[in-house]
Amino acid sequence: MKFNDIIGNDAAKMQLRAMIDNDRIPHAILLSGPQGIGKLALARTAAQYIHCDHRTDGEPCEICPSCRQHQTFNHADTFFSFPVVKGKSNSKPTSDDYINEWKHFLSENPIENYQNWLKELNNENAQPQIYASESSSIITKMSYASYSAKYKVLILWLPEKMNEECANKLLKIIEEPFPDSIFIMVSDNPKEILPTIYSRLQRVEMKKLSTKEVAQFLERHYAISHQDAIAVAAPADGNIITAQSTIALDSENREFFENFMALMRLAYSRDLKSLKKWSENINNFKREKIKRFLQYLARMVRENYIYNLHNSELNYLNRSEEQFSNRFSPFINDGNAERMIAEIEKAERDVQGNANGKILLFDFAIKITILIKR
Ligand SMILES: [Zn+2]
Repeated sequence: MKFNDIIGNDAAKMQLRAMIDNDRIPHAILLSGPQGIGKLALARTAAQYIHCDHRTDGEPCEICPSCRQHQTFNHADTFFSFPVVKGKSNSKPTSDDYINEWKHFLSENPIENYQNWLKELNNENAQPQIYASESSSIITKMSYASYSAKYKVLILWLPEKMNEECANKLLKIIEEPFPDSIFIMVSDNPKEILPTIYSRLQRVEMKKLSTKEVAQFLERHYAISHQDAIAVAAPADGNIITAQSTIALDSENREFFENFMALMRLAYSRDLKSLKKWSENINNFKREKIKRFLQYLARMVRENYIYNLHNSELNYLNRSEEQFSNRFSPFINDGNAERMIAEIEKAERDVQGNANGKILLFDFAIKITILIKR
């Protein structure tokens, strides 16, 4: 990744570039600033720039072996530390135990998204930490001679998640660093970093993005018009993650709507073969998504029932949903609305209870077929 690929924050980019160009790189750098601006991306670009064999116009070349290794997160002198969770059989976890999840996370999230990291750890309610076991691992890695580069770089994401034992152990090598080692810490909340560590970090501050900059990111990464990008960016308060979740919600909603229409059409025409395919398709969603889809179905059945009563003040359908409901709603009425919702809620409970999704969803589709009035 190039500096130019990172939106905004020109002052921070210039500060880092100057340190590296002049070979006056502090041993411990702190990149801080609000969430959703790409701090981790900038840290990774700085590391790539440090290691690049052919820096060109203030950018990493992107084609030398070092750059290529950086692009695939496999650079031998670059290490990552980040918050993790304790496993069933692992009470002393380190980042290395989660390196595959981490690489997947980096490749899927150009802007680091903490919620997505929790999903990657398979526990959205987790409170991951950087444990004392990690500091031992860091000290070992940093004490070896570098593999091929002049500097070893360790990118530490969220130093505020270091537990005290870890921070105290790490303090020693931040106070007396190995001459060829560079720490780049990336923090959302620098005030929560242990003060003895914080005071030894060379600070590079990144700022909140403007609406225009968030929109620029959206236009680069999504098939979205300039006008739509501005409309999504404006309420996001400079946070790309917030803007991304608006876009994701929108596209998920569209997907759910398509599947709702398909279910009702197939159920009406008693097309069991296609319903089986439909249930297999839904079963390919992750479990949390199946639950969200079933909640969406319950909402649509309610909305259509209300629509059918012509109480237009009460429903909240968007335009394409309303067009469909115009023709479909007569099939949802006093005779079946409640039972349909009960079936949806039952399916949601069964999904939660680990039942076989394929069978459960096909069974559910058949029940809807029976309940649809012809
Ligand atoms: Zn290069």
